[in-house]
Amino acid sequence: MENNVCKKCRKPLPEGYKHKKCESCRNAQVQGVKNGLKAAAGVAGAVASFAVVIVTKGKVNPKK
Ligand SMILES: [Zn+2]
Repeated sequence: MENNVCKKCRKPLPEGYKHKKCESCRNAQVQGVKNGLKAAAGVAGAVASFAVVIVTKGKVNPKK
């Protein structure tokens, strides 16, 4: 007896389907990874601008 159901939502998978998750769960996973990268990029950007603020505050002093 084959256990050909999606590992995530238990939806029956088509015969010969080579993935462990159904198409919609796989798409959701890809989307999640993309969102994760976007979030990471956003955090990195925030940290970078924060660092710039610190650096410029301590260093840049155009008058005199
Ligand atoms: Zn699924």
